[in-house]
Amino acid sequence: MAGEYEKSEIILKGIGVSPGIVVFKAQLLSQQTDKAVQRTIAVTEVPLEIARFEEALIATHEQIKHIQKQVAEVLGDEHASIFDAHMLVVDDRTFIEDVIRTVKKDLVNVEPVMQAVSNRYADMLSKMEDSYLSERAADIRDVTKRIMANLAGETLDQMAQISEECIVVAHDLSPSDTASIDRNKVKAFVTDLGSSTSHTAIMAKALEVPAVVGLHNVTAVVASGDMLLIDGAKGLVFINPTSERLEKYRKRAKYQELIHLELNTLRDKPPETRDGYLVPITANIELLEELEVVGERGAKGIGLFRTEFLFLGVDTLPDEEAQYQAYLKAAESQYPSPVVIRTLDLGADKLPVGFSNPNELNPFLGDRAIRLCLSHPELFKPQLRAILRASKHDNVRIMYPMVSCVQEVMDANTLLRQCMMELSKEGYDFNQNIPIGTMIEVPSAALIADIIAPHVSYFSLGTNDLIQYTMAVDRGNENVAHLYKPTHMAIIRLIDHVVKVSHKHGLWTCVCGQMAANPVLVPLLIGLGVDELSVSPSQAPMVKDVIRKLYYSGAIKLAQKALISSTAEHVEQICHDMIREIAPEVLELSE
Ligand code: PEP
Ligand code: MG
Repeated sequence: MAGEYEKSEIILKGIGVSPGIVVFKAQLLSQQTDKAVQRTIAVTEVPLEIARFEEALIATHEQIKHIQKQVAEVLGDEHASIFDAHMLVVDDRTFIEDVIRTVKKDLVNVEPVMQAVSNRYADMLSKMEDSYLSERAADIRDVTKRIMANLAGETLDQMAQISEECIVVAHDLSPSDTASIDRNKVKAFVTDLGSSTSHTAIMAKALEVPAVVGLHNVTAVVASGDMLLIDGAKGLVFINPTSERLEKYRKRAKYQELIHLELNTLRDKPPETRDGYLVPITANIELLEELEVVGERGAKGIGLFRTEFLFLGVDTLPDEEAQYQAYLKAAESQYPSPVVIRTLDLGADKLPVGFSNPNELNPFLGDRAIRLCLSHPELFKPQLRAILRASKHDNVRIMYPMVSCVQEVMDANTLLRQCMMELSKEGYDFNQNIPIGTMIEVPSAALIADIIAPHVSYFSLGTNDLIQYTMAVDRGNENVAHLYKPTHMAIIRLIDHVVKVSHKHGLWTCVCGQMAANPVLVPLLIGLGVDELSVSPSQAPMVKDVIRKLYYSGAIKLAQKALISSTAEHVEQICHDMIREIAPEVLELSE
């Protein structure tokens, strides 16, 4: 037909973080850009333009006040005071008058004027010698972004832009954006930024939403309305796929469905090797809704409840009672299987709506997780109390994240005992001997595992962070994703060391990082002596399939070979060879 043509197919390769084959139209999420479109206005339009500006200022003022109140409740006044500076900007009459004067004089809409005035103020401040003043430049830029969004009637909540079923195409999604995904509408997502163990990737798996990240330029190549085919396992994105491609993928999807059906039959079978060695598979959960699928996917119990997700993407942060209800629900749903409740790992990329860490140059090395909790007992104690109250069911366990020295464990335990005394006085029922564990995800903690061991009853290896901190490779940065190697000899040796120390002290060691969910690496971890694998529920069937096709004696031999290897590539190769031999079907689903 005249004027009609088939758009040519474009193939992009990124990092597949959540498997699945999906075909849908793209919806590009608009980015908050600094570019404002200029429009000439008539003299008669000036009052209207100024009124629009005043309304946006009022809305911005209210939003900042709301955020500030939330931050004060959770992190205390010291953190909330960051927003005083934002308030000063939005209420600054010199700034406001400057914008209004220019709108009247140049007869243009408010957006480009405000942008120009804001840039001028920010540039001036950033050149100041005084570090306090130079840091205010960032406040001006932040507030300007918010005012611009209000002028456009937009929200800073990216997911609110989605109106119909689609594949979301975005520059980046934060873990809280991902947590607020509506699965009825978002069939998959693809992003320019991101990597395999970023929290956004973890959320995608949790929600079972296929996703490809780290595509660098997908937002530049795709337009809203383009047809997309996503292969979440292989990390492939086909833009305007050909009919041959669609047909080939239709067959692949059918084949994968058959494998899934086969794996589902393992649901009630034990995670036991061919020679009778049992390796419990527990689940990592971020959201309470996931509790339903834990058993369905054949996992038993929770090896990691990332409680910080209760604080992400919500308007009202949960208090002690709300947290207690959440932990109780988890404990009851899994009883008598264990439920490991990890205390808040907030900070870095996991910040509740409106929180920011403006004064931290390296937030992943900064005030996060156990550090933040210990310096904010008003945040930590309600959580400890809520966990203790839920421990009236004796399957509840507690775990501290990102421990880097023994003192942190001792201080957290002191606070825990204090909470126990308070709860006793208040007449609450709880488990006095609640098992306490720590994450081993910082190299210093791995190396002093023997010193930490007397203070806890189990370890959980957080390989996502352990790899990031050992190799100095940002786990969320697609530019260095090729250097992020779970099979690096440093990682194999650290795991081996921690497991040996834990067993010497009579402790249990679980792996709850993504490494445990990679079916190719499961035999290696078992051979290294890991006692339990905690994985996102969607990965549990594959992990169980591998365990059931494995000989424990074979896993030990594999680990011995790995321990005398010298390169990550060699370890990866021998792990691959084993999977290709014993469970090749999982390769179809996982890579
Ligand atoms: C880890 O670091 O491996 C881990 C399980 O914790 P998170 O991914 O939540 O940082
Ligand atoms: Mg971690």
